Amino acid sequence: MSTARRTAGDEACVFDRIVAGELAAHVVLDEPELLGFLDARPVFAGHTLVVPRRHAATIAELPGRLLGPLMDAGRRVGAAQRQGLGADGTLLLLNDIVSQSVPHVHLHVVPRRRGDGLRGFLWPRRRYADEQEAEAVAATVRACLAGPGAVP
Ligand SMILES: [Zn+2]
Repeated sequence: MSTARRTAGDEACVFDRIVAGELAAHVVLDEPELLGFLDARPVFAGHTLVVPRRHAATIAELPGRLLGPLMDAGRRVGAAQRQGLGADGTLLLLNDIVSQSVPHVHLHVVPRRRGDGLRGFLWPRRRYADEQEAEAVAATVRACLAGPGAVP
């Protein structure tokens, strides 16, 4: 399987090394373009990371055609966690750049149970000062999505 290696200093990307079989991982999903394996430090047992085999540091670098398969893998892993681990539901989470501990795109698939105590992924929240502030923010993002800097 081809992997486009990136190096930071002299060290290959840790997920590239897992994909290449150089580092051990508990693989749960092994497909031509995607690999799913247990997070070594899970939020809950079964917490899985799904990664594209080919290195992409950020979502902007990931070929758009892989986004659907990535989420679909998360859908299937979540269903397996419910079936096999007794989870009630799933948290699908993808940190892009900020809080992204490994600079290789990875989708967290975290099995959830009602009352499991997990808090804080989307906290703290704030409010817009008023509708005008909200509209100004929305207009800025809309303009960038339609502008020359938009990600294809
Ligand atoms: Zn990588």
